[in-house]
Amino acid sequence: MEKLAINGGEPVRKEKIFYGRQWIEEDDVQAVSDTLRSNYITCGPKVSEFEKRLAEYTGAKYAVALSNGTAALHCACIAAGIGPGDEVITTPITFAASANCALYCGARPVFADINPETYNIDPKSIREKITDKTKAIVAVDFTGQAVEYDEIRKICDEFNLILIEDAAHSLATSYNGKKIGSLADMTTFSFHPVKTITGGEGGAITTNDDELYKRLVLAHIHGITHDESLMEGAPHEGIWYYEQISLGFNYRITDFQAALLLSQLKKLDSFAARRKEIVKRYNEAFKDLEGIIIQKEIPQSDTCRHLYIIRLDLDKLTCTRRQFFDAMSAENVQCQIHYIPVYWFPFYQHMGYEKGLCPNAEEIYKGIMSIPLYPRMTDEDVEDVIHAVKKVVENYKR
Ligand SMILES: *Cc1c(COP(=O)(O)O)cnc(C)c1O
Repeated sequence: MEKLAINGGEPVRKEKIFYGRQWIEEDDVQAVSDTLRSNYITCGPKVSEFEKRLAEYTGAKYAVALSNGTAALHCACIAAGIGPGDEVITTPITFAASANCALYCGARPVFADINPETYNIDPKSIREKITDKTKAIVAVDFTGQAVEYDEIRKICDEFNLILIEDAAHSLATSYNGKKIGSLADMTTFSFHPVKTITGGEGGAITTNDDELYKRLVLAHIHGITHDESLMEGAPHEGIWYYEQISLGFNYRITDFQAALLLSQLKKLDSFAARRKEIVKRYNEAFKDLEGIIIQKEIPQSDTCRHLYIIRLDLDKLTCTRRQFFDAMSAENVQCQIHYIPVYWFPFYQHMGYEKGLCPNAEEIYKGIMSIPLYPRMTDEDVEDVIHAVKKVVENYKR
């Protein structure tokens, strides 16, 4: 048996590898610098072009690009008309923003439990959490795998709920042959550097609905419009004239970020193909490895994974998750945990959310760990990660 680096052995690799990172090349840099030399550095032609291309890619009628994925969720909640007294159902195994967006609007996030095999929100649990205050569902395609969309759509139709899909992880994933972005009432994306494509920061919302689109446009630019057909007040006095017709925010994205995103969008299919290749290799390596449980895929989802999660079967190992994590770090494979159940955070605890609310989520949280996954990984990097996982499992096998 190989001696673990944490116990003084040789680490699997010399250079540290992280769970995710961007891939920026010379042509991306060129696209940004060209835009910086142009007339527009905030909202200009690149933003409009990116919106057009993203709508085409996802098959949605409209796309709105904005400053980040959190702003996208906030605007989606505004457009959905969510306000005080409303409830919004989401998953606890997500980034806090998926729940915080309801709070921004004065509504209450309600947490439904997850499916213990797919780790996605469980439609059965959604049904149990619906009250006459429920207004919307924020469904997160966790790790990139599509949620059980057909079941969730049925619930939304039955109870007249708006479906917001948090697709921060699932750009390039399809559900029953349709790209994520064209399925829910509104779909939000994030372009943070660890996500599938990046603008440094950035976000977007796609929708097929004309009315929601109008509200999304207003929500991210102060509620101000130059569109005469939307104006209601004073007569149109000249070309300088505009009106504020609702309360909005400044969630603009810059034109040079949009230029970077356009350049990245061209590479999305090749990024997705590489992610799928790595996932396939990991699945092969871990499917029969005692001590490791891999995530189950539903057949409807053709998944471009953002995260690869191994779940430790702690009954079969002599270590804790913390020891496993530290042993991987010592091998120079830096993992991450996605996610701490949102309602465990002090801010949520102080609002009265109690531990034990979602038993599956809490149980799964104890054993999950995200290992490196990003398109720029070489085959050697991938084999190093597999080697490290097998080495640590071997040393801690019961
Ligand atoms: C990254 C992420 C967000 C927030 O996106 P930002 O662009 O960082 O604001 C929201 N939801 C999920 C699930 C995410 O992973």
